Amino acid sequence: MKSLRLETEMKVPFFDLTPQFSLIEEEIKSAMNEVFKTQQFIMGPQIEGLEKAIAGYCRTRYAVGVASGSDALILSLMSAGIGPGDEVMLPPFTFFATAGSVSRLGAIPVFIDIDQETYNIDPSRIAEKITPKTKAIIPVHLYGQCADMDPILQIAKDKRLYVIEDAAQALGAEYRLRPDSNGRRAGQIGDLGCFSFYPTKNLGAFGDAGMVVTDNPNLAEKVRLLRVHGSQPKYFHKTIGMNSRLDTIQAAILLVKFKYLEKWTEERQKKANRYQALFHDILSKVEGVKLPVIQYENRHIFHQYVIRVPKRDDLRKFLTEQGVGTDIYYPLPLHLQECFSFLKHRQGDFPVSEKAADETLALPIFPELTEEQQVRVVDRIRAFYGKL
Ligand SMILES: *Cc1c(COP(=O)(O)O)cnc(C)c1O
Repeated sequence: MKSLRLETEMKVPFFDLTPQFSLIEEEIKSAMNEVFKTQQFIMGPQIEGLEKAIAGYCRTRYAVGVASGSDALILSLMSAGIGPGDEVMLPPFTFFATAGSVSRLGAIPVFIDIDQETYNIDPSRIAEKITPKTKAIIPVHLYGQCADMDPILQIAKDKRLYVIEDAAQALGAEYRLRPDSNGRRAGQIGDLGCFSFYPTKNLGAFGDAGMVVTDNPNLAEKVRLLRVHGSQPKYFHKTIGMNSRLDTIQAAILLVKFKYLEKWTEERQKKANRYQALFHDILSKVEGVKLPVIQYENRHIFHQYVIRVPKRDDLRKFLTEQGVGTDIYYPLPLHLQECFSFLKHRQGDFPVSEKAADETLALPIFPELTEEQQVRVVDRIRAFYGKL
């Protein structure tokens, strides 16, 4: 009786950072204390430490710490000289910042529909939308899996376009075509790579933070300059930038957490494998349930574990009642957002994105998620379809 009660009452949060914090609390506190003692809150030595660590991890020559992932996108676009009237291609099924950063600079977001299996930009739809105004492509490595980069790089080379990777969800992900080939890391594949350390990302700060990575010394130098109002030396301004420095305290915290990133990523991958096994019978019995698809031999870091399901909204309501947390990334594609009404898009313009917005559901995935919790999640999904 007792165990039955426990089972029915077991709650599974969609996401929980507290177990991670209790594991590293002392280390974090002492790293923060270092910063307090020196009082070097702006551009302290931890910034360069983190930049070195992230450049090494992404296998790029340069990394520049900035205030957020959104700013990483804006500064990357600025460093590529993108401005009013320029066209930038990107998928409509992504976080708002991918397109917002383009608009903030007066450039025009040109949406390209996604692949229905990976939810990433569909490279075969890019060429037809290129105009003389096209300047860049922003592929998004959604949920932690790299977009299909080779065809994108080919188009970019032919048409002389910049490729700016929105790798905010994909730190450590790899684009790998064959088992025996060397993978290329998210961020090192295009001209510039943008990362976010928003607290819920795989490497999360205690606030906002971001990073731009690149192999190009000119672009790296431009981003460095732009993040400090274009000032060099101090109070002499070469160009109009913005204030987008990464806080020293955030860098200190991220340096501590970085040591655990590989381990946490492996844990996420284990949870993904376990979901796959647990879903076995549901897949054969319920039509229309689709698990994440790994393209080629990619290294997927499972920032999110997103499934496609019939009756998504009813399922989500049921799971909430059962104490199972879920989320939707993203409920409304960007071409249908009110703020982009001036682009004059309509329902039906990007059907693959619209369908994904209606049918996908993100399940709990984080390094400390237990087997019991995963069993519970899938069991409740099974119960929902059982009573249909
Ligand atoms: C999180 C995220 C961003 C923005 O990062 P912030 O640090 O929140 O500004 C941009 N693009 C994608 C795809 C993201 O997931």
